[in-house]
Amino acid sequence: MSNLEQTLSIIKPDAVERNLIEEIKSTFKNNNFKILKDKKIQITKTEAEEFYKVHQTKPFYNDLCEYLSSGPIVVMILERENAISENRKLMGATDPKKAEEGTLRKKYGISIDRNSVHGSDSIENAKIEINFFFS
Ligand code: UDP
Ligand code: MG
Repeated sequence: MSNLEQTLSIIKPDAVERNLIEEIKSTFKNNNFKILKDKKIQITKTEAEEFYKVHQTKPFYNDLCEYLSSGPIVVMILERENAISENRKLMGATDPKKAEEGTLRKKYGISIDRNSVHGSDSIENAKIEINFFFS
């Protein structure tokens, strides 16, 4: 049974800063993701606060929003079968130290707060996040 989905992916400032955009995009393509749309942007802290509002009660919220707005990012709509879970698998655990071999965060992540990529975690959030950046 086919289950074509779209998910939002972000290449975060730490990865953009290290010129990893093309390498990370290639990894998505090699893993059967189509990049339907992409753009390099920088968001304001207020926009980051809106994007990450599910985390507003967390102790790391302020630093997280400062960080996501600290430099250019690349936002992408990725499409493939089971895109949401397949992208989460390809990214690996939030903490690069715990991420499996071969995952993006294992390969590129510096630390839990500089973990190189974002990916939507549910169909509902993928819709909200895609809409946030591409509408
Ligand atoms: N984060 C952090 N400290 C923590 C947990 C999370 O800085 O203790 C950051 C991290 O960059 C993560 C983001 O907050 O990617 C969102 O957290 P979430 O739990 O949603 O992880 P993700 O879905 O990105 O794996
Ligand atoms: Mg998350």
